[in-house]
Amino acid sequence: NEPLYADYIQSHIRTVPDWPQPGVMFRDITPLLQDPKLFRVLVDTFVHRYMDAQLDVVAGVDARGFILGAVVAYELNLGFVPIRKKGKLPYLTVAEEYELEYGSATVEIHTDACKPGDRVLLIDDLVATGGTMLAAYNLLHRLGATVVEGAAIVDLPELGGSKLIRDQGLPLFTICDFA
Ligand code: AMP
Repeated sequence: NEPLYADYIQSHIRTVPDWPQPGVMFRDITPLLQDPKLFRVLVDTFVHRYMDAQLDVVAGVDARGFILGAVVAYELNLGFVPIRKKGKLPYLTVAEEYELEYGSATVEIHTDACKPGDRVLLIDDLVATGGTMLAAYNLLHRLGATVVEGAAIVDLPELGGSKLIRDQGLPLFTICDFA
């Protein structure tokens, strides 16, 4: 029943052209979050996929990955760890810098966010160039975790990120694509 839900979910993602800058088609997931039925269908899609995956922890990427990741973790009876933009985490961190279209960005994780060997699910809302998810993957890898899968609501396959992620050895699950 995943494909059926995929259409239902995709049809409620709002596209905002030229935001935050000209040429970008922003895929806005807030309509999914604000509708109680859709929010449940969305969260349950991930929960059902991972309920038997013997995970130890769910990691979510700043900021929309927090919304989704925390609820999925709660439903799976797991803890949640945030992967944050630079300078937000108060304790000891490891950091990964990655390239953006213009300039670079850095993500960080607490050094005690997971233990070597932990089986981790990595969640964000969307994969575009894949830079964010790969940087998050590298952080978890550096802590010795096993990242079982990357997961997102949306893939933008034409930007090549999903292929890059899978080529780097991280399985990736997404619910829907936008060209
Ligand atoms: P990337 O690192 O290029 O794969 O970009 C993915 C990150 O940027 C995710 O955290 C998304 O929330 C955000 N993002 C990039 N492009 C878009 C877009 N077209 N619509 C919504 N969010 C986007």
